[in-house]
Amino acid sequence: MDAITHKREGELSASDMGEAGAGIAHALSQRLRGLRAERAWSLQRAAEACGVSKAMLGQIERGESSPTVALLWRIAGGFGCALSDLLPPHAGAAAEVRDPRRVRARPASDAMLVAPLFAFDPALAFEVFELTLLPGYERVSEPHVAGVVEHVVVQRGSLEVLSDGAWVRLGEGEGLRLAGDREHGYRNAGAEPAVFLDLIHYPRGRSAQAA
Ligand code: MN
Repeated sequence: MDAITHKREGELSASDMGEAGAGIAHALSQRLRGLRAERAWSLQRAAEACGVSKAMLGQIERGESSPTVALLWRIAGGFGCALSDLLPPHAGAAAEVRDPRRVRARPASDAMLVAPLFAFDPALAFEVFELTLLPGYERVSEPHVAGVVEHVVVQRGSLEVLSDGAWVRLGEGEGLRLAGDREHGYRNAGAEPAVFLDLIHYPRGRSAQAA
């Protein structure tokens, strides 16, 4: 939390995050119901597909609990959808300027802020997030759906990325492409927030696989 208090000009504000956070919980609740209905899955079946407890999935679906980002990824994997499919929709006008300050939110209890800059579009097969790791944050991610490739580019601070079994340090401006369908991770060992872009490519036809 300290990191949020030494914010720079144009950085996070509590009100922005609160608004976006509530929007995320609502969108997620609606989206989960929709995804389950499309598949005619019981809560039990969906919980098994996602590898989460039925009680937890039910709480998230009722908007009673906000999941961690890791849990969001498991849910996306279970339903075979993109991470941004679980976040609030936004107008898709091609010329729309996307300002991370307006869409950055803390969707979970993790010390990670997520700004969906460009939501998943099946024709393009990728989504782009701005992610902020507060100092000390570390997460090792379970593999995503086969064929997922992530492109990480550091904008501010420094970031360590776990790829192919080794942690690689990236400074400002540096980027790395990594296999998202293997174990990978992110951590911020610095004293300042680490801000980076993550362009996530999904294999074509993933929706068909999931159906
Ligand atoms: Mn990942």
